[in-house]
Amino acid sequence: MKTPQQRCKARTKSGALCPNHPSASGFCYAHDPARGRERARARRKGGSHSRIPHNGNADALPKQVRTLQDVLAVLDYTLAETLPMENSIQRARLLVALSHAFIEAIKEGELEARVEAIEHALKLRGENEK
Ligand SMILES: [Zn+2]
Repeated sequence: MKTPQQRCKARTKSGALCPNHPSASGFCYAHDPARGRERARARRKGGSHSRIPHNGNADALPKQVRTLQDVLAVLDYTLAETLPMENSIQRARLLVALSHAFIEAIKEGELEARVEAIEHALKLRGENEK
């Protein structure tokens, strides 16, 4: 059991004695009224440091998504933004979802190319029969 001298003089929001070790002021870091500015600075610094910088090239993003190439550009950007994130279940799920989206887009593109090739072949055949 801590004696009062080993404890911060403040009380917690619930009204209990603060269990933290006090500094010379008698308050812990979180409760010392003289250290409010220091705490605010540390919070801002912590916030800016936890933000992950952009990795994707936003200039390569289309203004509107109208074509398969636009979709692939958005997926490329999202993948580039996701990869440097801290590893987590959400990140893993997003990477799996992105992989599915890439597969769908690539499949769609291959189908489009095959239809175009067939149309081209039919057109050539039609011209040869004239
Ligand atoms: Zn305290």
